[in-house]
Formats: sequence, C-alpha cells, structure tokens
Amino acid sequence: MSISKGLVDIQLVPADWDYVEEGIENVIVSYHGKDPKLQGWVLRLTKCDVGADADVDSHEASLFRNKELQRKQDALEFAASIVSPIVGDEYVLPQMLVNVSTEFLLQVRENIESQRPTKRLAKCIDSRQSASMLTKEMISRTPADNTQDVHSVTVELKPKCMALPRSEFFAPESSVKHRVCWYCMHQYTLHEDGNVSKFCPLELFSGDRDRIARSLDHFAQSPNNNFVVFVDGRSVVDEQGKISDKCVPHWDLLRDTVADIAQKEDLFSRLQLVQRELDSFNIESVLPKYKHAMETGTLTTEEPGIGAWLNTYTEFRKRLDSGSNDDSIVSDCQAVMELILATTLRDVSVLIKFDSWPARNATDTSSLEHSKYTIGVVDHDPKKLSNIPKYHKLDRDIVATYLQHNPDEARQRPCRE
Ligand SMILES: [Zn+2]
Repeated sequence: MSISKGLVDIQLVPADWDYVEEGIENVIVSYHGKDPKLQGWVLRLTKCDVGADADVDSHEASLFRNKELQRKQDALEFAASIVSPIVGDEYVLPQMLVNVSTEFLLQVRENIESQRPTKRLAKCIDSRQSASMLTKEMISRTPADNTQDVHSVTVELKPKCMALPRSEFFAPESSVKHRVCWYCMHQYTLHEDGNVSKFCPLELFSGDRDRIARSLDHFAQSPNNNFVVFVDGRSVVDEQGKISDKCVPHWDLLRDTVADIAQKEDLFSRLQLVQRELDSFNIESVLPKYKHAMETGTLTTEEPGIGAWLNTYTEFRKRLDSGSNDDSIVSDCQAVMELILATTLRDVSVLIKFDSWPARNATDTSSLEHSKYTIGVVDHDPKKLSNIPKYHKLDRDIVATYLQHNPDEARQRPCRE
C-alpha cells in the first residue's frame, strides 16, 4: 500500500478534471490530462452547504481551513494505522493529500455543475479547503486496452451491515436485532409502502458461493444507492431502475465473477470479524456511556484526533488478542470510540474494478481477461462522535418501524449468518 503522509504539491489544471460521482461529504472528479503523475487518480473534494464558504478570506475561513487540513491528515493516518491492519494493506487504496487553490476549486465547481444530480445541489465544492485527497482511480471512463472491444466495469457494494450484533444489553423490545439484521430492518423505514428489498447483506458475507450469487441477484433487483455498476465510468440501471442484462453486458457473468471474488477475498471475512468484535456494545448501551463520558469530561465536544484513535485501536486489539470477553472492564470512552469505529467500517464501500470487461457482442467471453480485477475499500474516514445521539434515534426508529410492519415474531424473516 502506498499512503503518502506528506502534502504533495502538483500543479492542477481545472479543465483536466471530470465529474464522476458524489456522496453526502465529497465530490469525486477524475483526471484526464497529460501529466503521468496524475493519470489513473481521482480527487475527492469536500463539500459544504451552498454559501457557507462565501468569505474565503475571513479569519473563520482560515481557522476552518487549518482544521480541515488536520482532519484530512488524520484521515490518512487513520487509513494507514487502523483501517489497513484491520482489512489488510492490499485492500486500502493508495492515497495522498495534494494542495488545491481557491481558484482551482471555484473553476472545477463551475465546470461540473451541470452534471451534478439535482438532489445534491444544496451542497457544493467547499472553496475553503487547502488540500484534497488524491486516490487511485477505481471508476474509469476508458478500458485499459482500447484495441479490444471491451469496457471498463466497476462494481460498488455498500453492504451497511456485516453481522448480527452479539450485544447482550438490548432492551427486551429490541431483541429482534438478534434475529433480523440492521439492513433488512432499515428497509421498512426507507420504503414506507412495504416494497422492501430481498437483499440481505449477511448472505453476501456468508462465504457460501451460491448464497452470495443469489444475494447479488436480489441486490440487482433493488440496488438503491447500495449497489452500483459503472460501465465506462457511468452508473447504469435499466428502465425499471434495476441492474440487469439490459444495462450491463453479460450481467450473469459479472454476478458470478463478483460472487467468486466475494467468496475468495479475505476482505469480506475480515470486515465481518471486526464488525462482530467491535459492535459488542451496540448503540443502545453506548448512548448512556456517551452521556456519562461527556458529563465527566472524559469525552468533549472536540472530535478525537489520531492519537485517541490509535489508543482505542491498541486497547481493542489487546482485548481481542487476550481472548477476553469481559466487556465490563472497558471504559465508557473506549466503548463509545469502538462503536464509532464499528460504524465507520460498516459504512465502507467495496469497489471491484475490471479493466477489460467483454462487450455485449463478444461471443467467446472466456478468451477475454474479465477475471483480472482490482479490489479495494473506500469511504473509511472516521465517523463523528457527535453522531452518537443521532445513531441512537435512528436505531430506535428503525426497530420501531420494523416491528410495526412485522409485529408477529413467528412471521419475521430471520437473517442467517
Ligand atoms: Zn438481513
């Protein structure tokens, strides 16, 4: 893995960067210029509410800029020192921080505006940032080998849940959490009409090739934002909003190939293992610990820096390696931090990129190098501690909504690990 911890200075030209996609926090733009140092890289540009960065020269903007830089440097260190040992070096994509000027940011913002989805327009690229993250490109507009009739295809999986919680600290009405996973319960909050997805992420993490393939079919039926297939850099769905042969060349082959990868790559079992271990407290028992730690000053409203994260990880590792199941020896602060780490790892995206995926008209797909792929996790910046009350409310709402739709325990569809 090559995570470069210094700040890199490269001349960036706004016209060389194309819009790829965006989430709540970042806009991703990819490079198509001539500088070999930047080819094959994407830039993650932080967003803010429209207008929040109006005065880039103010004292507040300068303070914000320094804080943001520190946060991004911490995120790099977090990836190198915590995410990497947990999931494995080979699954953390190379990344580095590069200087960006206000002029560059404003120009890119203008250039990409017309390509952004309407629902995202309440936020824009934050022109106060002084550095942005360069990451290895995993969604490409062009296949690696243009001489063949092939596509660049990337599959993005956001499973959001990897195991059933093992916590013993649930209120009686929450015992359903031991049977039905967070993702499956959440469906009833997301789709009030009861039209819920059949996809269960525990199937994807089952290690069983057939169950994985079936789960990908279910995922393709209701991909929402959790399952995305990019063909030559564009996310595709058919006219019914599903992922099928109509929008992905050789969808069955892709499903089977991804199922093979999910079974074989250690990434999936590592994510699941750490999810089980880290989520031992669950949000229900962590909220009172969070409140207590805030009252006594063990935690403050200041978000933890990299030092605090390293301590948390060392403590966790020590407990895990000693084989101790005694959660009572864990401090409030440690329990809160472990929950945030669990949430961070639960929310990562897994990207699988095929450089030379056979085109629709290819008859002999076996001769093409479709099995050559790159795999990695993205979106692993640490979540904020201040989200704890929000997570607790969401958890309570999800359970309540699920039970409203499925009050009879005998008729609840249990999730199987
Ligand atoms: Zn489930």
